[in-house]
Amino acid sequence: MTTANPLRYSVIRSRRKTADIVVERDGEVVVRAPEWADDQLIEQMVHNRKYWIYKTIAEWRELNRFRSSRSYCNGEGFLYLGSTYRLTIVADAEPDLVLRDGRFQLSQNVVHAGKESAVRNAFQKFYQQKGLEKIPARVAYYAPKVGKEAGKIRITDTGHRWASCSPQGNLLFHWKCMMAPLKIIDYIVVHELCHLHHPNHSDAFWNEIDKVLPDYRERKDWLRLNGVRLDV
Ligand SMILES: [Zn+2]
Repeated sequence: MTTANPLRYSVIRSRRKTADIVVERDGEVVVRAPEWADDQLIEQMVHNRKYWIYKTIAEWRELNRFRSSRSYCNGEGFLYLGSTYRLTIVADAEPDLVLRDGRFQLSQNVVHAGKESAVRNAFQKFYQQKGLEKIPARVAYYAPKVGKEAGKIRITDTGHRWASCSPQGNLLFHWKCMMAPLKIIDYIVVHELCHLHHPNHSDAFWNEIDKVLPDYRERKDWLRLNGVRLDV
């Protein structure tokens, strides 16, 4: 820390007995001081606690890193079924995040909770709910075509995989699948159903997919090229 880069802070004097330094939610450093404390005393106090202050600011920056790169603010676009919808922060939404009138409407209290994780959770919940509404119907449509019966279907966080299946035919889909166009979701569904014939990526497996989705290569490529964009 050099004097060329002084620590900036604001001072609020009031009828209090002791002084206190806080890093506010917006990252600003504020010194709350008694009325009698002069500038020199406050400067000394800030100096004495500068390591704590810098550490706290660094923590604040780390917590807000995701927000600044992603910015959950008005106008930011988010994907649903391959289309982008703009975000609008509203006074009240029930549930916290809804897609209405062509916009994602997010309750401001989620944003003001101060954590990106709260907003991310709201999005995850939204996609999970939509997944539960849409994916079982796609599975029911394609299962007879593939010639297999699916078990339970869950929409969850499957890590780096789009989906997975168990030998019993239970299917797991990543909630991020709901950001992709339906055509791509169908490919993911058929891919998993075909694994019930072949639990591998053999020629026989791809041949099985080809019977149901002759254009599967296009869909597979789309997912490979665009998959990274499917995130909140
Ligand atoms: Zn596979």
